[in-house]
Amino acid sequence: MIKSIEEADIKEGTRVLVRVDWNLPINENGEVADASRIEATLETIEYIKNKSGVPVIMSHFGREGESIEPVINFAKNNYEILKEGVEFLENLRQNPGEEENSEDFAHELAKNGEIYINEAFSVSHREHASIVSLPKLLPSFVGFNFLNEIANLSEAFNPEHPFLFILGGAKFETKFPLVNKFLNIADNIFIGGANAILVSKMDLVENPKIILPVGQLDALDANTETLALISEKINESKFILWNGPLGNYENGFVAGTVALARMIAESSAKVLVGGGDTLAMLSDDGIKEEILSHGFISTAGGAMLDFLANGTLPGIEALS
Ligand code: ADP
Ligand code: MG
Repeated sequence: MIKSIEEADIKEGTRVLVRVDWNLPINENGEVADASRIEATLETIEYIKNKSGVPVIMSHFGREGESIEPVINFAKNNYEILKEGVEFLENLRQNPGEEENSEDFAHELAKNGEIYINEAFSVSHREHASIVSLPKLLPSFVGFNFLNEIANLSEAFNPEHPFLFILGGAKFETKFPLVNKFLNIADNIFIGGANAILVSKMDLVENPKIILPVGQLDALDANTETLALISEKINESKFILWNGPLGNYENGFVAGTVALARMIAESSAKVLVGGGDTLAMLSDDGIKEEILSHGFISTAGGAMLDFLANGTLPGIEALS
């Protein structure tokens, strides 16, 4: 059974290690493009502070072992609650023990606190030290956002049909096993973004549920014909799961994804949306609010897809 942070014995001065996912998207000017992942953790941090505990925040950041300091400075400058009485650890992935799931590294981390809270749903599909080994060493619980993710995503275990899965983005190697699983539950799977070209060369392409973009498959954005095809499928669907932008948005190819977001927001289907890059594309407009009126926006990408496919995650199993 998953235990909520509300069951944790937090007293004055109790040091509470909080694993968060503050691996925020950074734009070409080096600025934070979307702070949703910080905001999702504030309720848990505030709860600990209200109990007079000391939150000790830990996250990974980036791919090159860079320092997480710019993110911490951004967080302190923008959120009052983080200015004082909160401690921060350095980028977890600076230590190879994190990704290698080293017991020694987990023991090292455990020295920083007395209680462990997992508030990093979006990383809980990874068998990393701070996700699966550390919780075995301390009394362990999940935070409010983690609980909220589980409650909302679990609604998808009995989806209404037709169920349309829209998969954009990149890293198809990591998403391929999930597509295989979703072939059993979804009625249509549209595969766009940088993945389309790879899929076109696989046996998968023969499956009648698989839909690919119209025209050039290595295009940097979805074209009008492709958007019309997706729109048709959206209109006939009652449940839509969307992960991954349709274009190379960092370089300005945003139109297709913005159009898709609008179509999803305006549809009457129950919708689930997730993904770090996907969320970065939703940060303007009232689109987010419109989606929330008939759906859920997850802070997770890969973890959301894994949870939906398997009904659990390594980070959840580690707590039981
Ligand atoms: P998420 O973080 O939402 O799960 P991904 O990480 O899978 O999404 O994918 C985001 C990446 O996919 C971005 O770097 C984006 O540039 C790339 N991408 C999406 N569509 C295309 C495309 N048509 N051509 C090239 N790159 C694309
Ligand atoms: Mg991404």
